[in-house]
Amino acid sequence: MIAVRFAPSPTGYLHVGGARTALFNFLYARNQKGRFLLRIEDTDRERSRPEFEKEILDSLTWLGLAWDGEPIRQSERISFYQKEAERLLSDGKAYEETKEGKRAILFRVPKREIKLYDSLRGEVVFNTEIFEDIVLIKSDGFPTYHWACVLDDHEMEISHVIRGEDHLSNTPKQMLLIEAMGWKPPAYVHLPLILGADGTPLSKRHGAVSVTNYRREGFLSEGLDNYLALLGWGAPENQEFFTLAQLVQKFSLKKLIRSAARFNLEKLRWVNAQHLR
Ligand code: GLU
Repeated sequence: MIAVRFAPSPTGYLHVGGARTALFNFLYARNQKGRFLLRIEDTDRERSRPEFEKEILDSLTWLGLAWDGEPIRQSERISFYQKEAERLLSDGKAYEETKEGKRAILFRVPKREIKLYDSLRGEVVFNTEIFEDIVLIKSDGFPTYHWACVLDDHEMEISHVIRGEDHLSNTPKQMLLIEAMGWKPPAYVHLPLILGADGTPLSKRHGAVSVTNYRREGFLSEGLDNYLALLGWGAPENQEFFTLAQLVQKFSLKKLIRSAARFNLEKLRWVNAQHLR
C-alpha cells in the first residue's frame, strides 16, 4: 500500500515550496489510491507556534488537499521517541552525554559509504566520515528532527518520502538510523528547488508569498494548485490547464523534472485567469 506524508514544521506560514511538496504528495497518493497523511513536526519548542499550525491546516484545506485520518503531532509523542532511543542505547549503538546534569542521547555514526536511491537522481553515494554523531534526544528531553522523523515514518508505514531537495543531505543520516533500528528505508524522491524567475533563491521579491496571501488576493485554489503542479512536473503533451481532479488522474512521479523550477508570477496569474474563465 502506498502511503505518503506531508510533514510541515509550524514555524512559519505555508509558502509556495511547502504547498508544492504537499500537492505532489497528495497527487501521488490519490493517483495510486494510497494514503496521504499529515504530520506536524513541532519539536522545535522555540520556533513552533499554534497559529502557524492553524494557518498551514487551513491553507491545505483551502487548496483541496484533504489528508486521511487525524494529523499526528510530534509534541504529543515525546515519551515514545525517548523510549525508542533507549533501545539504541542498550544495543550500544547510541550513547549518553551529560552536561550540567542534563542528559542527551547521541547515535554513533558508523564510518562508511551509504548509497541512496532517489528516483530523480538515481544512485547518490555519501561518505559518512564527514558526519558528526547524530543527536537523537536533546538535553531538554525533546527528539531532534531526524529521530522523530525516522520513527514516525516507520510507524506511519510511509512507503515514499517525497520532500524538497534541501533535505537531500538529511536522507543518508536518516537511513543510518533506519538501518540501526533494523528497518527498511522508504523510497525517496527529492523535489527540485523552486527558484525565482531570475534564478536566485525564491523570495517575496519574486512575488512568492504565503498561500493565505494568494487566497486573500482572490486567487482561486484550483488556479494555484494548477500552477504549482507545473513547477517540477512535466505535464503530458505540454498541457497547461488542469483541474485538481485532472491532476490526480494524470500525475506521475516518472514525469518529474530534475532541474530547478522557476516561479513566475505572470504565469501564475495567467493560469489563474484560465480558471476564472
Ligand atoms: N518538517 C520538515 C520541513 O518542514 C519536513 C521534512 C520531511 O519531510 O522529512 O522541512
